[in-house]
Amino acid sequence: MTAEHRWAWGGSVFQRTVAEKVSCTGIGLHSGSPVELTLHPARAGTGVIFERTDLGVPVEVPAASESVTATLNATTLGRAGTSVGTVEHLLAALYGLGIDNVRVEVHGPEIPVMDGSAAPFVFLVRQAGIFEQDAPRRVLRVRSPLEIRDGKKRIRVEPARTLRVSYAVDFAHPCIGRQSLRGLELVNGSFEAELARARTFGFLHEVEALWRAGLARGGSLENTIVLDEVGVMNPEGLRWGDEFVRHKVLDLVGDLALLGMPVQGHVIVERGGHALHQRMVGELARRAMAWSEPASVADSYAEPISYGALRTATA
Ligand code: ZN
Repeated sequence: MTAEHRWAWGGSVFQRTVAEKVSCTGIGLHSGSPVELTLHPARAGTGVIFERTDLGVPVEVPAASESVTATLNATTLGRAGTSVGTVEHLLAALYGLGIDNVRVEVHGPEIPVMDGSAAPFVFLVRQAGIFEQDAPRRVLRVRSPLEIRDGKKRIRVEPARTLRVSYAVDFAHPCIGRQSLRGLELVNGSFEAELARARTFGFLHEVEALWRAGLARGGSLENTIVLDEVGVMNPEGLRWGDEFVRHKVLDLVGDLALLGMPVQGHVIVERGGHALHQRMVGELARRAMAWSEPASVADSYAEPISYGALRTATA
């Protein structure tokens, strides 16, 4: 097998799937129980489909903005009374690696939390390999600015050649305060380098309240950065000084993945969260027909990046 050079999604005009099936097991954040997850190759045009395999009859839930049923703490998708929770970090990894089509089998009501970041899912996709399919990809090109405000919270998109993100958070905590990332371009491996390893975070008083309510039973210092009044409780510390805002951008990428195609636009967020992200995703989804177009080589980036050996898809 030879190492093939494949372009980051910003440069690929073809759809992609995983080259073969791949599985992992982790703990569900809310249940605290082990959950098995398997990614299967899927035909071009399928999109990302979740399938609950722990029920009598398998139920499919498409990763689409109309499937969103809850945005509190995490993004939950549902259809016909069945739901799949904590989907956003897996979706962010798929989007960040340019995977359009995959069937995600999950043996339980939520995607395993792993280490609280998207890095274990990136590793999983890398293990499977990436297969480029003989089908053109469409992109959602932002044609005019859109903005949603909710008090001090704000999300805006503007036309841009690639997906760019500017994000600011402001928490009254000595370890966070105001953190911002400006104009981060999601091309050529920047998702893996800059965002994938950023972990989810919570404040000790919130985490304790969730535990008292019987929620987040799988939550621990193994998968969440926990902040007490003075600092970070995790003995290993932070992966970046601004890991908090990086995780917010990771969450945004996972939420944008529900559009089912790469977005070309500059997304600017202040004090965002899943609920605000999803309001913008809903607005973009309503314009998806009018604003989508075939991905073109003109949008490509000259810098190829290696995706390792290209294998034959098994489905
Ligand atoms: Zn998150």
